Amino acid sequence: MDKSQYKNVFVFVEQREGNIQGVAIELLGKARNLADSLGENVYAMLLGKNIESKAQNLIAYGADKVIVASCDELDEYTTEAYTQAISQIVNEYKPSIILFGATTIGRDLGPRLSARLSTGLTADCTRLEISEEKEFLMTRPAFGGNLMATIVCPEHRPQMSTVRPGVMKAMDKDDSRKGEIEKIEINFNKDKFKVRIKETVKEKSNMIDIAEAKILVSGGRGVGSKEGFIALKNLAEVLNAEVSASRAVVDAGIVDHDRQVGQTGKTVRPNLYIACGISGAIQHMAGMEESDYIVAINKDRYAPIMQSADLGIVGDVKKIIPLLTERLKGLKK
Ligand SMILES: Cc1cc2nc3c(=O)[nH]c(=O)nc-3n(C[C@H](O)[C@H](O)[C@H](O)COP(=O)(O)OP(=O)(O)OC[C@H]3O[C@@H](n4cnc5c(N)ncnc54)[C@H](O)[C@@H]3O)c2cc1C
Repeated sequence: MDKSQYKNVFVFVEQREGNIQGVAIELLGKARNLADSLGENVYAMLLGKNIESKAQNLIAYGADKVIVASCDELDEYTTEAYTQAISQIVNEYKPSIILFGATTIGRDLGPRLSARLSTGLTADCTRLEISEEKEFLMTRPAFGGNLMATIVCPEHRPQMSTVRPGVMKAMDKDDSRKGEIEKIEINFNKDKFKVRIKETVKEKSNMIDIAEAKILVSGGRGVGSKEGFIALKNLAEVLNAEVSASRAVVDAGIVDHDRQVGQTGKTVRPNLYIACGISGAIQHMAGMEESDYIVAINKDRYAPIMQSADLGIVGDVKKIIPLLTERLKGLKK
């Protein structure tokens, strides 16, 4: 393979119902750093239907060029249509690097593309950088989070990685940035479309995604039961916060998986993270250590979470949570 033909950092811009997902904006910020280190450009790949109006915003968040593919086939995500569209873009533009969000869509699309393009994919990266030798270094937790592995893709192009929402920091929006928008047509091979979406049924939920929440009240095994989580919910309500959890309570069936923080859950970066009865295992910390301010409530003053906490409260969560809730309610009056 002639690697010298491959240039520029591409971002797959995930949209759902026309709404650009936060992870795409975060990836544009990271792509900007990488491209600047390489002296190359950032390209955003925007796929969907009637989606052109969203392109300018991507330039404000770091793209130099936005490639827009807008048609019926790309309205809702399906593996084959999106794989064909991005494969065509890769064959025409020859990107050196492509970044995807490690969302349900990115985790489906990335591996499919990697097989079709005969290149590698590093999943769930937590750090991406360019070495002095201009190599793309993709770092991710390995062996259950006990060590960090840095992976390179020396033989094949494009070099591809997925990154979870909340891991990278978006650039500040700059409406004065200038860039190019290019519309392209995709030549689909529709014989290969094996899946047709007949209906999309949404799960009813009035809860905010924990990755978007500004304040999280998070519970672990120390909170114990469903009743314990009702107390956490009361505290969350007073604080205008969302409830999240460690894997221990998700595995116990007390809390849904979409509320799990950590390596196999979500990465969060709230302004305030209140860890209640959570020990602070490395796999949990991996998902929340970038929080601005961490409060840990734990009966064990030597629990690992205490080392990362800005404020540690030693005591029984079952007593402290109701007291804290009442005190905060009093302050709000
Ligand atoms: C590959 C892999 C991936 C993983 N992914 C994740 C992940 O994404 N997220 C995640 O969270 N974990 C993950 N884990 C599991 C992780 O290793 C821990 O087992 C888990 O985080 C422990 O959850 P916990 O802190 O709630 O429970 P424990 O470790 O049992 O800690 C409970 C804590 O509560 C305290 N406590 C007990 N009772 C009280 C009380 N009454 N008042 C105050 N404090 C009390 C204890 O002192 C203790 O510190 C993963 C593990 C592996 C191997």
